[in-house]
Amino acid sequence: MSQDDCLFCKIVDGEIPADIIYESDTAIAFRDINPQAPAHVLIIPRKHIATINDLEEDDEAVIGSLFTAAREIAAQEGLSEQGYRTVINCNEAAGQTVFHIHLHLLGGRGFSWPPG
Ligand code: 5GP
Ligand code: ZN
Repeated sequence: MSQDDCLFCKIVDGEIPADIIYESDTAIAFRDINPQAPAHVLIIPRKHIATINDLEEDDEAVIGSLFTAAREIAAQEGLSEQGYRTVINCNEAAGQTVFHIHLHLLGGRGFSWPPG
């Protein structure tokens, strides 16, 4: 299930340390190493899925679990009322740099729209 050369699979497998703040059967979440907001958490499936383009129908529940994780983490971080941004970048033009799908949860400041 994990891919040998994938940084986030190594975090899932405990081979690389991370500040893990949430774990479920299907997902984990940890703080971004280079935060872009006072709260910046990456929520990832335990299963290696490279990009949104690689999703299969069987992955629907796993991807849904990233959003229920986001709801719980936002509540834990005290962000639910004020609001927060969730983002999944797909491929280079969108700025994806790690090819294991991840939902960014950003909060603790205001965010402009449209994004840059
Ligand atoms: P992307 O640009 O692919 O949407 O997001 C990748 C994110 O992973 C970036 O925000 C980057 O700071 C974060 N990141 C990259 N390497 C590591 C790492 O080793 N540990 C943690 N916690 N975050 C990382
Ligand atoms: Zn991976």
